[in-house]
Amino acid sequence: MPEHNKTTHFGYQTVHTDDKQGLVDHVFDSVAQRYDVMNDLMSAGLHRWWKRCALEWCAVQSGQHVLDLAGGTGDLAASLSRQVGADGQVVVADINAAMLEVGRDKLINRGVVGNIDYVQANAECLPFAEASFDVVTMAFGLRNVTDKEAALRAIAKVLKPGGCCVILEFSKPQFSWLNKAYDWYSFNILPTMGRWVADDEESYRYLAESIRRHPDQETLKTMMEEAGFDRCEYDNMTGGIVAAHKGIKDNWPASATSTTTVTGE
Ligand code: SAM
Repeated sequence: MPEHNKTTHFGYQTVHTDDKQGLVDHVFDSVAQRYDVMNDLMSAGLHRWWKRCALEWCAVQSGQHVLDLAGGTGDLAASLSRQVGADGQVVVADINAAMLEVGRDKLINRGVVGNIDYVQANAECLPFAEASFDVVTMAFGLRNVTDKEAALRAIAKVLKPGGCCVILEFSKPQFSWLNKAYDWYSFNILPTMGRWVADDEESYRYLAESIRRHPDQETLKTMMEEAGFDRCEYDNMTGGIVAAHKGIKDNWPASATSTTTVTGE
């Protein structure tokens, strides 16, 4: 398909590939100030547990260099900063200046300073040297990226050989009763909560729709393998509502670097 005709998904809408990131940015510009409180309300606090489990899987060591991609308001970065200690470094990268600013202010207020840098960057083309991080984390970010394959390849590139990537995302519930209940909650309660708490129903409708459009567990695992990760595996949480995917960069350059298919969503 010619470059100018490429389309992708923004939630349930079909949009021009070049327009998606702007639409995503608009969502996060709009919700940045209420993002943390909405996370606690929507998930009844469960997002904290999902993030803790993902971090345990990373097994970050003192002195390591860690990239928290799509780091937003800095939940993971706060814990990572403690784990890497004074000799390590955490880089929080996100494409959205408003989310980064809320995160930076929150962490400074909590005294989490000294070993954290904030970088505005697109996950699809990371501005970091090859093999510069021991660990890359990405929580609830990949779903929003237009070219997910490019983002996965970019992560693999900036990881050191032996380094580990953990991607936490909404995924496919593993039981039909849970799927039904979750659908009802997502399309009825979430947008209403968004309207009341963040004065933004549309962004929380996008959240529900983008989750349904996101690759399921097995598809994302295959995408990680194709991007060059080895020993890929995933762990379902809360019945598969969320899954943490892990991949290691054992062999580099991997044959997968020749994969150039760009499918957008
Ligand atoms: N990681 C944080 C957390 O778990 O609370 C924030 C997750 S928030 C749902 C998604 C984040 O992805 C937003 O901060 C958004 O700006 C960021 N994002 C969206 N598209 C991106 C891209 N192409 N590159 C980097 N970050 C992106």
